[in-house]
Amino acid sequence: MSGQYLTAMPTTGQRRRAEKRMARRAKVSIDPDACQGNSQCYVTAPQVFEVVDDLSSVRDEADLEYHRSAIEEAVRRCPTGAITATWGDSEEEGAKAKTQLP
Ligand code: SF4
Repeated sequence: MSGQYLTAMPTTGQRRRAEKRMARRAKVSIDPDACQGNSQCYVTAPQVFEVVDDLSSVRDEADLEYHRSAIEEAVRRCPTGAITATWGDSEEEGAKAKTQLP
């Protein structure tokens, strides 16, 4: 009985491979035409975003999976909907801010 339970659990190696697959598919991008450089994304997730010359970008070294919840919050807070995030567990485009400008 306990042997059946143990074989159903993923091994550490299986978990790590799954995490790597997810990380490879995670993608966060900024639409430079929509970005206003107001740094809301940086304030929300400074480990992921940086703003230089009024244009946001994603840090090369950012661990997207680790900071997923902060990234999703940044997507929601971006006033222009410039941030798009997609994740390995979904083929659909991630939530994109739809805030209407006045
Ligand atoms: S919150 Fe949106 S508009 Fe503001 S700097 Fe970040 S990406 Fe650009």
